[in-house]
Amino acid sequence: MNTNDLFVYDCPAYPLPHIAGKDSEFVATVYLTSRCNMNCAACYLSAGSGGPELGTDQWKHIIAALHGAGARHIYFLGGEPTLSPHLPALVKFSRELGLSPSLSTNGLAASSGIAEKLAESGIENVQVSIDAPDEIVNDALRGSGSFRMASKAAREFSKIGLPVNISMTVSDRNFDSVAAMIELADELGAVGINFIAVQSFGNAEINHLMLSYKNARAAIEQMLAYRGRLRVTANGFRFYLKANEFSKASTAVTCPAGKSYIVVGMDGKVYGCDLLMVKGIVAGNALAEDMQFIIENRFSDLEERRLARFSPCSSCRFSSSCQGGCPARALNAFNTIYAADPLCTMN
Ligand code: SF4
Ligand code: SF4
Repeated sequence: MNTNDLFVYDCPAYPLPHIAGKDSEFVATVYLTSRCNMNCAACYLSAGSGGPELGTDQWKHIIAALHGAGARHIYFLGGEPTLSPHLPALVKFSRELGLSPSLSTNGLAASSGIAEKLAESGIENVQVSIDAPDEIVNDALRGSGSFRMASKAAREFSKIGLPVNISMTVSDRNFDSVAAMIELADELGAVGINFIAVQSFGNAEINHLMLSYKNARAAIEQMLAYRGRLRVTANGFRFYLKANEFSKASTAVTCPAGKSYIVVGMDGKVYGCDLLMVKGIVAGNALAEDMQFIIENRFSDLEERRLARFSPCSSCRFSSSCQGGCPARALNAFNTIYAADPLCTMN
């Protein structure tokens, strides 16, 4: 691997690199539910028990509005999105509109027998979350039985011909398993594997699930050493790169929030991205307002931040490509988006 292939996009939330390569088309993530059958240590949402959810017709209205506003990919997320009874109908509806639908699952899809149904509905990509190649380590991070459930799901989706990507959240608890995880993804028939650096939000923050610079470097070295058939991508590792790698990595735009990425929460509220949703930064309501209007008018602060006119970014040699890093991390650390990414080690 080289850094350009590996670091296609730095954002820890944007799902497109691992579902569709380097493309920068407009992606919308929709959170169908916050219910989840697991309670993962690294879950940025602290998903679990759930709350009021929208019906099929409300979601169809939102998905049509996202399509009308330019979205080309729709990514179904939760909680565990396969717990939503609306999922197959919404996948089918998305395909009929011309959207490319993808899904992230902890594996429940296979054990609940809806893998075939989702394939028939037209799902195009499936991302399965596994956090370690070792069942004991994985289940300690993701919940009892999750390793078997996820492995079974990956095999089943692959067998019916759907492209499967494995997703691993990398922390100090599993960084040394990156190479073995690539081997596991290969064995499971996946087309790719995506490594996401743990973000200190939700459960990960509560559980103090960190990724030290040293361990992140060890994870990156394992990724770069890979020479096989799988597409390997990494999200959220930019500030663990060395300066020479940092300037070469093809992360042309660091933050896609509100520009080529948008998120709709389970109650229809619109956000720039998943982490801004966790921080409660609402841009609008997809059921009450025009989606195009929201996109054109409610993200000017993020647009302003991309100019990186704050210290030390304004005088940084990387500012045109880095753009100050992640605004959600800045907000989480400093209570303002107009501050440098707290992970930045370049200055
Ligand atoms: S604020 Fe931007 S860079 Fe940070 S997680 Fe959201 S979309 Fe990604
Ligand atoms: S100082 Fe700002 S622009 Fe420069 S690398 Fe750090 S976060 Fe990015």
